[in-house]
Amino acid sequence: MSRVLTALLGLALLPIAAAPAAYAAEAPPAACSDEPRDLPIDEFTDYRELVGELGRLERASKGRVTVKTAGTSTRGRRIHQVTVGTGPKVFLVSSEIHGNEKTGTDAILRILEYLGTSESREAQRLRRTITFVAVPKLNPDGAELDRRGNDLSWAEVQRTFPQLAGRPPAWNYLDTQLQGDDYRTRPGFDVNRDFNPELGYLPRAEDVPGAPDQPGWFLTPEARALRSVYVGLTAQRGKVPDVYVDLHHQGACVKQAGSNRFLDVGIDYPPLPDKFFEPGQKYAKYRDVYTKDASRQLAISGFNGIRDAGYLGARYPHDAARDLPGQARCSFALNGTGTVLFEVRGQTQTLGQWHREHFTRAVIAGLTNMLRDVSSGAVTTIDPESFDDLPGTIETLGRAEIVE
Ligand SMILES: [Zn+2]
Repeated sequence: MSRVLTALLGLALLPIAAAPAAYAAEAPPAACSDEPRDLPIDEFTDYRELVGELGRLERASKGRVTVKTAGTSTRGRRIHQVTVGTGPKVFLVSSEIHGNEKTGTDAILRILEYLGTSESREAQRLRRTITFVAVPKLNPDGAELDRRGNDLSWAEVQRTFPQLAGRPPAWNYLDTQLQGDDYRTRPGFDVNRDFNPELGYLPRAEDVPGAPDQPGWFLTPEARALRSVYVGLTAQRGKVPDVYVDLHHQGACVKQAGSNRFLDVGIDYPPLPDKFFEPGQKYAKYRDVYTKDASRQLAISGFNGIRDAGYLGARYPHDAARDLPGQARCSFALNGTGTVLFEVRGQTQTLGQWHREHFTRAVIAGLTNMLRDVSSGAVTTIDPESFDDLPGTIETLGRAEIVE
């Protein structure tokens, strides 16, 4: 046997020999569970790969994809604002505000690739009608630690904001154990509770520790980075972005009502109770600006894209009393942007990279249909009330608390 042939066979045999081990490592747990465990995640895009991929997209797109700095994470990682398209409608999307919820980053990269490099008529039309702005891996420190929270202590926050000296930590501070991660020696914040509809808000001592049904404070550099993207786009255009989509993951064992099958992506509009928009109530001043209907129309468009591509979508659980103004999507919706939440099933501590490709494609299908419907204007013809007709979510574990 020639040396060349031996080498070729050796190369050919290597992946075959390696396959069973790889499959074994990726096998899902026999019974669905939200119990945290160590699972492989290396197929997801890590921070170094993200930086490399964004540079490649800038070059491959011949300048159509542009990357600038949105901010810097607590541990010094650059947070990217990536733009493609020149259209009048601004479509903003972010991923990995929770670092253990990773498919959104992969989906964003593939959409950037399509919008940046395709010469198809559709891609040209989307670039002409939409300005697509992505903030992938918004919480890069949490993403590198593969955990929900960022990597920021209360003492560090107090150094940045001396007016908070002597105050107890904000309610969304994580310093115990959560989802299999130990925050006791390396605390952090749930960044998606740190937003405030008053975008110029500065932290005040009397507003912490706060509560889930009160606005956040922009204590984290990651929330401030997304705020600066939003405020910058608003200043540039003289109006707020038309769309904001926040890409997340949820519990591992949720099913689509009706089919009783494990769902792929839950979708939602902002959890802000109607009653608080009545005169004298806490959101009354936002009544004419808040975009409940536009948000539901966009959410239905996302659901339709997921369903039409053969994936299982569902309404994410949304009790009429749910009230979370500190979430990015709620703060932006109170400023007039239509906002949608995507909730892919399972987080890295429950599903690892299992179903990664499947879920990433489902997210892309939802986002792509939203882009099409925003581009054509068809989204405005959707009946927002029909949101309630979409299949709901069955919580098979009966969890008292929703982790999104
Ligand atoms: Zn999340």
